[in-house]
Amino acid sequence: MEKVIIVGTGCAGLTAAIYAARANLSPLVLEGHEPGGQLSTTTLVENFPGFPEGINGPELIMAMKSQAERFGARFSYAAIEDLEKADGFLRVKIDGQWQETRTLIIASGASAKWLGLPNEKTLVGHGLTSCATCDGAFYRNVPVAVIGGGDSAAEEATFLTRFASKVYLVHRRDTLRASKIMVERAMANPKIEPLWNSAPVEYLTDAEGEMRALKIKDVNSGAEREIEVKCVFVAIGHTPNTAPFRGKLDMDESGYLLQRDGTKTNIPGVFAAGDVADHVYRQAITASGQGCAAALDAEKYLAACGAE
Ligand code: NAP
Repeated sequence: MEKVIIVGTGCAGLTAAIYAARANLSPLVLEGHEPGGQLSTTTLVENFPGFPEGINGPELIMAMKSQAERFGARFSYAAIEDLEKADGFLRVKIDGQWQETRTLIIASGASAKWLGLPNEKTLVGHGLTSCATCDGAFYRNVPVAVIGGGDSAAEEATFLTRFASKVYLVHRRDTLRASKIMVERAMANPKIEPLWNSAPVEYLTDAEGEMRALKIKDVNSGAEREIEVKCVFVAIGHTPNTAPFRGKLDMDESGYLLQRDGTKTNIPGVFAAGDVADHVYRQAITASGQGCAAALDAEKYLAACGAE
C-alpha cells in the first residue's frame, strides 16, 4: 500500500513530490507519456521567480526532480490507466498492474493542440510555440502570427503586440469565437491584422531551420500565400490529460478536473493540481503552487485517516 502516488512530472507533480517527500511520505511519482510536462518542450523561462537571468525549461524540471529525489521521492516511467475507489483506500491501474494507495495526486497536465502539419514537432522552440506568455518576449520588433479564433488566440495576439512589430491573427472562419471584450480589444489594436478564412498549410524555415514564413490558404478560393513571420503561436486550445478518469472524477465539459475546497476532487483521497484542473492561469508557478497545496491536502487527509 502506497501512501501517495503522484501522476505527472511537470511543475505541479514535481512540487507535490518535493512537499510529500519532505513530509516523509516517500511518494511514488509516475512520469507518464510526457515526462517533464509542457516546460520540457520550452526554451528559456523568464518568469519563474528566483531566476533573474531566466532558466531553461528542461533544466528547471531536472532541478525540481533532483530536489524531490533528494528527499526520497521515487520515480517510475509508467502511466496511470484506471482508478477505483475501495474501502478506505484507492486502487490504481499502472501499466496493467493494480496498485493500492491511500492518496492520489493527479497532476497529469494538459497538452497543447497542434495543427498536425509536417515539420511541426521539430520546429517547437525554433519559431513555433503554443505559449505567448512564455515566448512572446523573444520576438521583439518582428512580425509574428497567432493561429486560432478563441479567447486564447485573441488574448495572446493582444499580449504579443507589446513586443512584435505586427501580429497576424490567422483564423479559419470569418468570426472569432472569443468573448466580446477580447474581440473588441484585439480588433481595436492597430498592430493586429486578422486574416479571415485562412487555414495554415505549411511552416517555412530559413537555412538555420528557424521559422521564416507561414503559408496559408484561403478556404473559399483555395488561393495560397506566404506571410513572413519569425514565430507562429498556435492557440487552438488544450486537452487536459484526464482520459483515465472519465466517469470516475467530476470534470467540466472540456474534461478539466473539478476541484472543491482546495485541491480535493469528488473522490476522498484524490487531489488535482495544475493544468489538469486549471484552464485559466496555466503558468509554471501557479501549477507549482497547486502541487504544493495538493501535497499538503494529501498529508492532512492521511493524518485524519491515521495512515501517516
Ligand atoms: P477554444 O475556445 O476551443 O478555441 C479554439 C480556436 O482554435 C477556435 O477558434 C477554433 O476554430 C480554432 N481551431 C481549432 N482547431 C483548429 C485547427 N485544426 N485549425 C485551425 N483552427 C483551429 O480554445 P481556447 O481559446 O484555448 O479557449 C479554451 C477555453 O479557455 C475557453 O473556454 C475560453 O473561454 C477559456 N479561456 C479564457 C480566457 C480568459 O477569459 N482570459 C483566456 C483563454 C482561454 P473555430 O472557431 O472555427 O472552431
